[in-house]
Amino acid sequence: MKITFPHMGNMYIPVKGLLEYLNLDIIVPPPSSQKTLNLGVKYGPEFACLPLKLNLGNLIEARELGADTIIMAGGVGPCRFGLYSQIEKEILSDLGYVYDCLVLEPPDKHLGQFIMRLRKIIGTNSWGRVIEAIKFAYQKAYAVDIIEKKVQYLRPLEKKVGTADSIYRHILNTINDAQSINSLQEATNLGILKLDQVPQNINSEVIRIGLIGEIYTLLEPFVSFDIEKELGKLGVHVTRSLYLSEWINSHLLMNYYKKEHSKPFAELAKPYLNYFVGGHGRETIGYAVGFAQEGYHGLIQIAPLTCMPEIIAHTLLPRVKENYRIPILTIYVDEQSGKAGLLTRLEAFIDLIRRQNNNRRIVQ
Ligand code: SF4
Repeated sequence: MKITFPHMGNMYIPVKGLLEYLNLDIIVPPPSSQKTLNLGVKYGPEFACLPLKLNLGNLIEARELGADTIIMAGGVGPCRFGLYSQIEKEILSDLGYVYDCLVLEPPDKHLGQFIMRLRKIIGTNSWGRVIEAIKFAYQKAYAVDIIEKKVQYLRPLEKKVGTADSIYRHILNTINDAQSINSLQEATNLGILKLDQVPQNINSEVIRIGLIGEIYTLLEPFVSFDIEKELGKLGVHVTRSLYLSEWINSHLLMNYYKKEHSKPFAELAKPYLNYFVGGHGRETIGYAVGFAQEGYHGLIQIAPLTCMPEIIAHTLLPRVKENYRIPILTIYVDEQSGKAGLLTRLEAFIDLIRRQNNNRRIVQ
């Protein structure tokens, strides 16, 4: 059994860590690229949102490398995500790619089914070993998030653009290679130490932006055209509404680890949206309110075109904007999107925020 899984940003690091800890044979697909997208667009249904197309491309590329078993996430909400694993499986089978599929539904909904499916993957590994592997994978995701947050902080301050990112790539590799909690800890500490040495312009005027939206577009830099990096170049400190370890902790580990900075998004969203609409629509609103209350200068919502939960959130964001007087930009992406257009919109948006801030200062 050679197991593969679709990409979503740095998610491959904890997933690979988990499966390797269990001595399972895995094939990580090549990072998402234009070739991946072309494959997904060619074979995926036109109406499907971008994550399905890219996931399909990932799975085709992994099959060509010899993978024969897929682990995919399933969904139980009102959006199309719940159907996707089935659709992908059918398309792959029509293309002649025979895959064994293991769809993992969130355990907070069907715990028994989740355990049965997991047993099929883990083979002879004991449950004790599986628990250790899950903890190890979580620690990897947590380490990645610590480093990501540090890089998000440094980008608008670094003296030479790109310094933090070149160190970041190296640290990700060492976290990915770590085979034990000790080596993981070492890799993280060394990474923080290196990032602390990045020369900074401490007097830079930094704009703080909350990045909200759908999980895939938030976490996968290929679809967001590296939006965080581009905003960093414009002097922006980005904070996302969603970090991988927080998502794993709340959705897969039922908050086994203590929550640190995550906001009570459902409470915050209540005056605007008081029920689950699928995907991360409610988080988008809750975090928009949370960021606005914390004095962020602006918000950027990013989502795949036609993403139903984010369209709902989009229609409610003008009320948040009005109540908190915070600028909000919404960006939808699909296979037709281009980087040049995105950069123009980002530059105009950040320019507007800077001007508003300067005017406020003059008035005061
Ligand atoms: S959350 Fe949005 S992008 Fe994700 S599957 Fe649902 S509709 Fe598609």
